Amino acid sequence: MNGLLKTTIAGSLPKPLWLAEPLQLWPKWHFEGEALLQAQHDATALAIREQERAGIDIVSDGEQARQHFVTSFLEGLEGVDGANKKSVLLRDRYEGLVPVVKGPLARRKPVFVDIARFAREQTSRQLKFTLPGPLTLVDSLFDEFYHDREKLAHEFAVILNAEAREIAARGIDVIQFDEPAFNIEKLFDDVAKWGVSTLEHAAAGLSCKTAVHICYGYGIKPNIDWKRSLGQEWRQYEKIFPLIASSPLTQVSLECHNSKVPIELLELLSSKELLVGSIDVASEIIETPEEVAKTIRKALKYANPEKVFPCTNCGMAPLQREVAYAKLRSLTAGAAIVRRDFE
Ligand code: ZN
Repeated sequence: MNGLLKTTIAGSLPKPLWLAEPLQLWPKWHFEGEALLQAQHDATALAIREQERAGIDIVSDGEQARQHFVTSFLEGLEGVDGANKKSVLLRDRYEGLVPVVKGPLARRKPVFVDIARFAREQTSRQLKFTLPGPLTLVDSLFDEFYHDREKLAHEFAVILNAEAREIAARGIDVIQFDEPAFNIEKLFDDVAKWGVSTLEHAAAGLSCKTAVHICYGYGIKPNIDWKRSLGQEWRQYEKIFPLIASSPLTQVSLECHNSKVPIELLELLSSKELLVGSIDVASEIIETPEEVAKTIRKALKYANPEKVFPCTNCGMAPLQREVAYAKLRSLTAGAAIVRRDFE
């Protein structure tokens, strides 16, 4: 092992059948109260162990304690009603039931700090922890109070920064902000005007590495239909990467394998560490290590090997559990093939 091409994952992993409904974006828990808390901890320990067994270098908590990567964070805040959800159009693509902002937002208590602490105790490997980014939060709620998306994003930036600082203080190595909403054409003006600046505020002053994840989404039908509508070349990153390139964030997590992203767009991020998506999360077909190696080698034509981290395209929460872990084994085997090129 020459220390190059360390593998990691975008964030989420499928939950065990005993914990929650499988294959769902908003799965129902099978426990409540203290039993749910214990079950989430057990699933987190298991998810970390399975990543270690698959050979992942920089592991995550697998988001086992969250029903959904955005709404579970929202529901931890004051001013948000998670019990009476309302329907909105998410990512300009599909309807989803989301929490309602009903009053001034405040973080009266930590949201994910305890699960981050627990995850840290489970492994001596590098550990990454994910949080939703401000723009994606704004794009995933029903606002009955602020009526101003930019103001909401600023509120979230302050709250996220406080949460992220406490998480980083627990010894987390990378905090990643998920911003799939950055890729939506209708939101490009918002990204440029306040999306990147509020993201930078959320990530300011952290004692660990910082990352942003920008993708083409889970393998759900509205996303697959959307991708079909994007034509032969997906050039959304071309608009976003120059804005990210000049930000202080350390890493960018992006989608490459089975995508129509022109790989030369990686050159726009020469200052960043790149989490190169080498596993398609929108397909149950398990990539071969050779396919993974091919994607990594393509990226290496445009990126410095010291700055490339083979990764999944997006979260794996809605996948079959066995499929997800088989894909992780292919990811590490593929990275090992390419690593040998440098020995
Ligand atoms: Zn994603």
